[in-house]
Amino acid sequence: MSRTDPDSCPGVLRLHDAADGPLARIRVPGGQLTPEQMQTLAEAARELADGNIELTSRGNVQLRQVRDAAALEERLTAAGLLPSASHERVRNIIASPLAGRVGGWADVHPLVPALDAGLQADARLAELPGRVLFTLDDGRGDVSGLGGDIGVHAVDENSFALLLAGADSGIRVTADDAVELMLAAAHGFLELRDGQWRLHEIPDGVTQLTEHLHTSRPGLETSTSGVEVTGHHDIPIGWLTQADNRVALGAGVRLGSLPARTAEFIAAIEHPILITPWRSLVIADLDEWTAEQVVRVLAPMGLIFDANSPWLLASACAGAPGCAKSLTDVRADVAEAVESGRVVPSGAPQFAQEGLDAEEVVASGRQHWSGCDRRCGRPRGAVTDVIATPDGYRIDPAD
Ligand code: SF4
Repeated sequence: MSRTDPDSCPGVLRLHDAADGPLARIRVPGGQLTPEQMQTLAEAARELADGNIELTSRGNVQLRQVRDAAALEERLTAAGLLPSASHERVRNIIASPLAGRVGGWADVHPLVPALDAGLQADARLAELPGRVLFTLDDGRGDVSGLGGDIGVHAVDENSFALLLAGADSGIRVTADDAVELMLAAAHGFLELRDGQWRLHEIPDGVTQLTEHLHTSRPGLETSTSGVEVTGHHDIPIGWLTQADNRVALGAGVRLGSLPARTAEFIAAIEHPILITPWRSLVIADLDEWTAEQVVRVLAPMGLIFDANSPWLLASACAGAPGCAKSLTDVRADVAEAVESGRVVPSGAPQFAQEGLDAEEVVASGRQHWSGCDRRCGRPRGAVTDVIATPDGYRIDPAD
């Protein structure tokens, strides 16, 4: 597939003209936010946008209905959330949220700022399409299956497999050399592409890029025992005991939309915050007493600490009024379905249906509601689709 048009991924300096007003997407490499940055986002959401912080499937955040783009740019720059004008849209990096704290082979979080700095320091890499995604998986397999273009996946404490378009390239690299190799792969992608936005769009792209790396970097270590990459759905929710006996709290966010006031409470905890690619949060390094207080205060505000909550089964596209293509306000419809008990646990039989009014929809297990057939934001894996059509909702069961 060859494309002639540049990708249209929004940023802060290039807002998306959504139906409900300008939308800004703010890159958060590795999902890592300081409390001060969360406070900045909360104030910006309330004072310059619609009052909510949207979490994206790449662990980034979005603000809708931005009223003053210049003021937003100034605040985000001061908070370190917009470190580069030229490279802002290429800083798409997902890392295993719990790495270094709970499970996994290797702590990939230190690689995030190194990769981010390497991208920003290289003028040529500003030409990467905004769709290119880097993944850093600590070996548990939670982010390698999320459709990255260039990634590393820990195979032991100090060795990583290089993934290209989500598949094991056979190349192995140490932690010390992982960032340099990923940057070399990014350069290789730029040399191979002919307008394509993603590596998998280039015919034989993975093979060509693997050969390119072997040619340009002789002596690369290889392995024939391949890493199997699957799409997990491992949202870290609730009380998670860290290796150092402190506590990480995984918190679900209803339909990925975090109200500014809730975000300010999270910032006030003054602990590290991680945005996950499942539109949820992890608040890390808490002592037990603080963790208990956090749950006591934030659960009534709508954060989800119960892994069995039906809110964790449902996601939705922007819908109306945010998207002009939407046939209905799907987010209101799915919220009503959750609250009235019509989003039911996995296991109940799910049949294909069509022509349903919103209040007739009963769907089981993981489900994604869309305002039209494009199904934007649909999670990977087995997901039932609930799609608005001119004749009512249609349910397409998970495969
Ligand atoms: S799925 Fe359709 S309605 Fe929903 S955001 Fe995408 S284009 Fe808009």
